[in-house]
Amino acid sequence: MDLSRSFLAAKKRSPKESAVVSAACCNALWTRDRLVRSGYELETNLCELCGLQVDTIHHRLYICTDPGAVEARNRVAEKMSKDENGTWWPKNKIIISEAIASGELDPMYLHAVFPHPSDVQPGPALNTGARFQATDKAV
Ligand SMILES: [Zn+2]
Repeated sequence: MDLSRSFLAAKKRSPKESAVVSAACCNALWTRDRLVRSGYELETNLCELCGLQVDTIHHRLYICTDPGAVEARNRVAEKMSKDENGTWWPKNKIIISEAIASGELDPMYLHAVFPHPSDVQPGPALNTGARFQATDKAV
């Protein structure tokens, strides 16, 4: 949640932008797919803009072919980022490609939720037989 907090703390965000990002991070956006799966009766669960695919967060952010959505996505993708060596590279374009490849359910690309390091790093070894003892020798 640190990434979303730092994004929302930036003063250059508009109230609307902050509200949408905050809602996305908290899974408070209701797509047509989510409404139908929750029991609401709609004529369709297809995207309101393109009408071609099921309306999901993943579709809205990364897949939708509506010209307005494509233009907004391209504006973000075209921004270049400078790394610590001073090299410019298309970071956002790569992130969007990774998000598309990750599929519909990856919380990292849908809600800015990342696994805690302790969830992905191996824990301490158990029962190794190692023993620690005090020594009076100076190192
Ligand atoms: Zn669409």
